[in-house]
Amino acid sequence: MSKEDNKELDKDLDEGGENEGLNPPFQTVKGVHDILPADHDYYTFIKKVARHRCRQAGIKRISTPVFEFTEVFKRTIGEATDVVSKEMYTFEDRKGRSLTLKPESTASICRAYIQHNMSLLAQPVGLYYIEPHFRYDKPQAGRYRQFWQFGFEVIGESDPALDAQAILLAVRIFRDLGIGHTLKLQINNIGDLESRKIYSEALKDYYYGKERYLSEDDRIKLQKNPLRILDSKHEDTIILNQSAPKFKDYLSQESINFHEEVKEYLTDLSIEFVENSTLVRGLDYYNQTVFEFWDEKKGVLNSVGGGGRFDGLIEMLGGTPTPAIGFAMGLERVIAQMKRQKVRVPSKDDLHLFVAQLGKEAKKICLPLIDRLREKGVKSMGALGKGAIKNQLAIADKFKVPFCVLVGLTEVREGTAIIRNMKVGTQVTVPFEKVEEEVIKRIGQSNLDYYDPKDPI
Ligand code: AMP
Repeated sequence: MSKEDNKELDKDLDEGGENEGLNPPFQTVKGVHDILPADHDYYTFIKKVARHRCRQAGIKRISTPVFEFTEVFKRTIGEATDVVSKEMYTFEDRKGRSLTLKPESTASICRAYIQHNMSLLAQPVGLYYIEPHFRYDKPQAGRYRQFWQFGFEVIGESDPALDAQAILLAVRIFRDLGIGHTLKLQINNIGDLESRKIYSEALKDYYYGKERYLSEDDRIKLQKNPLRILDSKHEDTIILNQSAPKFKDYLSQESINFHEEVKEYLTDLSIEFVENSTLVRGLDYYNQTVFEFWDEKKGVLNSVGGGGRFDGLIEMLGGTPTPAIGFAMGLERVIAQMKRQKVRVPSKDDLHLFVAQLGKEAKKICLPLIDRLREKGVKSMGALGKGAIKNQLAIADKFKVPFCVLVGLTEVREGTAIIRNMKVGTQVTVPFEKVEEEVIKRIGQSNLDYYDPKDPI
């Protein structure tokens, strides 16, 4: 590592990481975070919900590599977008090839669709992913440099009914996660490439002479990617945007009809939406339908998920023109929203049993006992250390187990074991060969954690 790299790392460490008051020598780099077991409960839950809903809709899982050739993103997301111009983690490999950590998955999935000849499969092809993504964004609440997204793409169909179905799937998932009622669906139609070009010129004309009211950032946007000015966060621009030309006045009749049809289907599906003519989304490859789910209270600053059509993307990557639509949601933001809503995640991680033993002989029979108990679905730990039974019970208490099995010198001699109810503090002695049966009786058959690897995945 060069001196410069070291300096950069030191700087990031200075700025970053949570140290919880201990000031350890190594901490996470700014903008990235560990996912500790308590939060993994949320990730597992989201994964389960998403997987279930995707399975119902015939959408299958895909994983693409963490890095791709830079060109895959540059060509599709667009050079003038924030993601490509400022936020990509781009590096050269040892042969000098430019590679980039994926800032999103849609372009990679389309690359995979072409590479693996998926156009030969039954269309449309539905693919979902749960993956980490990387953007060198300014870290703040809900904005990280490594963040997780669940998303899906449905490729090979242009029917507006598919747009409504994609939105429906996202709505169902948010409802299952217990946060559907907190999100407002925003939709818009941004037409085709041609109408976007004409509209971009109209926006430039409108802002001609008004540049002095714009921030440096917005002035650059106006030059490079005028549509993005519509989702500016600057107060003056937001006010000016209200009188700016409206996208809908520049849409082709075809796009207008398409949009009307999507809205009709959404109404048929009883999905509430807000028409938002300033919604453009940050990436260049979108066309026609775009949509986002906003936290009701925080508006555009907290988009929890979004998506849209990208009918031109496969062609941009060298494939034959193939229509497609997709959606992605940020898991960190979803989890923050779930926590705000006090959504409880049903977890199966709590242990049932702690096995405390005294002496080597006891340990030798307790080890296979733990194995047999786990095989039957009893979540157990123990048979560790040499401490007095009392000390081991104190450890069991910390693990909050409802039951303990105790095997001391007397029990080994007599071929028995003690089963202790940790809540009420009562205990019974049972013959050693009855331990499993007696423990299971107390835990309840339906609470066992049993998994048969032969079950369908
Ligand atoms: P996008 O790929 O930009 O359309 O983002 C889709 C969703 O991913 C957003 O609605 C956010 O929930 C989430 N997201 C995007 N960027 C970040 C980030 N830097 N940190 C955390 N979540 C993000």
